[in-house]
Amino acid sequence: MSSPEEARFVSTRAADGDPGVSFERALLRGLAPDGGLYVPRTVPTLPSGWRDSDDLKGLARRVLPALVGADEGELDGVLEDALDFPVPLVQLTRERYVLELFHGPTRAFKDIGARVMARLMAKARDDHELTVLVATSGDTGSAVADAFAGLEGVRVVLLFPKGRVSAMQERQLTARRPGVTAFAVDGDFDDCQRLAKEAFADPGTAASQMTSANSINVGRLLPQVLYHLWGALQLDRASRREGGPLLVAVPSGNLGNLTAGVLAACMGLEVTRFLAAHNANDFFPRFLAGERSAYAFEPTRATLSNAMDVGAPSNFERLHVLLGGRLAQRVWGTSVDDAYTLERIRLCLDEDGYLACPHTAVGFEAVERYRAQTGDHETPAMVLATAHPAKFPDTVARATGKASPRDPVLDALAGRPTRVFELAPTLTALRSVLIALE
Ligand SMILES: *Cc1c(COP(=O)(O)O)cnc(C)c1O
Repeated sequence: MSSPEEARFVSTRAADGDPGVSFERALLRGLAPDGGLYVPRTVPTLPSGWRDSDDLKGLARRVLPALVGADEGELDGVLEDALDFPVPLVQLTRERYVLELFHGPTRAFKDIGARVMARLMAKARDDHELTVLVATSGDTGSAVADAFAGLEGVRVVLLFPKGRVSAMQERQLTARRPGVTAFAVDGDFDDCQRLAKEAFADPGTAASQMTSANSINVGRLLPQVLYHLWGALQLDRASRREGGPLLVAVPSGNLGNLTAGVLAACMGLEVTRFLAAHNANDFFPRFLAGERSAYAFEPTRATLSNAMDVGAPSNFERLHVLLGGRLAQRVWGTSVDDAYTLERIRLCLDEDGYLACPHTAVGFEAVERYRAQTGDHETPAMVLATAHPAKFPDTVARATGKASPRDPVLDALAGRPTRVFELAPTLTALRSVLIALE
């Protein structure tokens, strides 16, 4: 892709004058060596004509090359293959819309970033075999495993804490997929993460090129810019306008989705306010309200919207670099507890006939609170729907009093053969299985 001297990405912790790295380097490294996250050194402006796109793929072909520094046409194959499902905008009322990001294979928005990243990595690896090592506590692992499965020259090793993921999550993680091996680690999620970190640092392990695929990777972040643009474009078309005031409500945990939206705004998308919709893990809303300093991260609390259970959001560092002192002007935040989440699922169904997953419901609640606080009932709001409600049957049934919805893709997964190996939580054990897999 881009030539090595094109060093467009710098660490959030880099000093002025840092030479930076190419997109490929940032993609294969994941985290910068100084512990920071990669960000574009300068954010490109939207290419003229982006509004002429007919679908997400077409928009991606126009916008993504400038973001990653690829030539026009170079990413067409990647995008064709990765973005093979719809991302529809559903209109609920004149000023309330929902952008459904959950029509990918694992029924959560993480499919979008993970599928593009996987194909970018498979392209960037040249002739080297690539091992993707992922420590996961749930949703991310299955999106990543699914995204990489069957790509030539790439194998995936999943580490998850034995007995500490839900039955549905375990089925998704251990479904037999080509090139993917899942290990149930005798320990907790922190053990899995520690093992992965040790393996990366261990010269004895790294016979083949190893990379991580977690949510801080630029290869996952940048494709997420695309659906913010695509959602706004569909909304503009539905209301026969070209840009204008817009609220974007983002169910947030690690703040990757919100950071991607902010990047879209930095590229020129008109957004009046982003609404950062958090569950009881309220570090960021409190920071925005001036109640917390940038360093006052908190331990994680378990909630019904568990994919957003993050006490110390890593993308906060990126938001700081991108917006600095303007953060609180561009982003408004709120924290929604489980009782309000359940109530909002019920209200969405009763008032709009729309069934929302618990994460998406937190986004809807944020819109109502923002309107009540500001008196702005006019500006159209786009809520990002991050997961299919059928992924959370118990919560949805509890909120609505009705049988949980079904989804044929999730049902089919339940019948797939699984394969899983147990692993002791030590580097020696991991090293020997990695070598055996080669
Ligand atoms: C990961 C996830 C989120 C949170 O996204 P971030 O980018 O981490 O803020 C929200 N909803 C669902 C369903 C998720 O899987």
